[in-house]
Amino acid sequence: MKGDVLKAKDYRTDLQPVWCTGCGDFGVLKGLTQALADLQVDPDRLAVISGIGCSSRLPGYVRAYSFNSIHGRALPIATGLKTARPELTTIVVGGDGDGFSIGLGHIPHAVRRNTPLTYVVMDNGIYGLTKGQASPTTDLEAKRSRGLAGADDEPLNPVLLVLSSGGGFVARTHAGNLPHMRAIFREAIQYPGFAFVHVLAGCVTYQPRGYADQLLERSYELPADYDPARPEQAAAAARDHRFALGVLYRRPVTERSEARGGDGHAEWMSPDDVARRDLPGE
Ligand code: SF4
Repeated sequence: MKGDVLKAKDYRTDLQPVWCTGCGDFGVLKGLTQALADLQVDPDRLAVISGIGCSSRLPGYVRAYSFNSIHGRALPIATGLKTARPELTTIVVGGDGDGFSIGLGHIPHAVRRNTPLTYVVMDNGIYGLTKGQASPTTDLEAKRSRGLAGADDEPLNPVLLVLSSGGGFVARTHAGNLPHMRAIFREAIQYPGFAFVHVLAGCVTYQPRGYADQLLERSYELPADYDPARPEQAAAAARDHRFALGVLYRRPVTERSEARGGDGHAEWMSPDDVARRDLPGE
């Protein structure tokens, strides 16, 4: 295998996904393996970490060091791994229930530490694995019409949340738009800090028929002249009732911080950086 050009299928394990036929997570698996092949990421230097839920099964299907961990704790586990093994490309995956309920408290801390992780959230607006309860992103109409708990609670806006926490790379894509998703994943994996990708994904079993198509109809791609370096523009796009797809915000990377593996916000330091740093008085 050494020296060969890897294709997307080379990043798959022999495990067959147990997702329902038509689940949006299939698209994410495909887009992710395509992006890994585009970047020729060495599978021996790749880690994929998840929490619990339907989408958190994804690490088992990727040829990598994989860990389907515990509910809501994928980010701290991945942060520990990346700190101990900074040479690993580390990707964190999970769903809206996992990431935005029990796992929510970890997001601002991952943002402020700015550890180079790619965090992909497959947001289908429902708890799928536990059979259809409202998640933090289930919309009001769905909750009211189906009598779900929290019928009057506004859904959380994940993109705005990460932006307001100070996220340096914030993007959104749709699981049914493979070329778009592939390009976004590629850019996120290459970003030298914490990168957040919100993926609009369908659940064909616990969301109404056509849900993924409705998400797509409510979406639009950011125009070619959109400048992702402007935070106020990104906040406006994040507040839009429609779903803006693309890189909403990308903090400019300075040469110095890029050389150190961070993007200049909270400068992430690997253990080697810590050992090498100049301390006051030295
Ligand atoms: Fe996908 Fe929904 Fe089935 Fe879970 S229950 S595998 S999210 S379609």
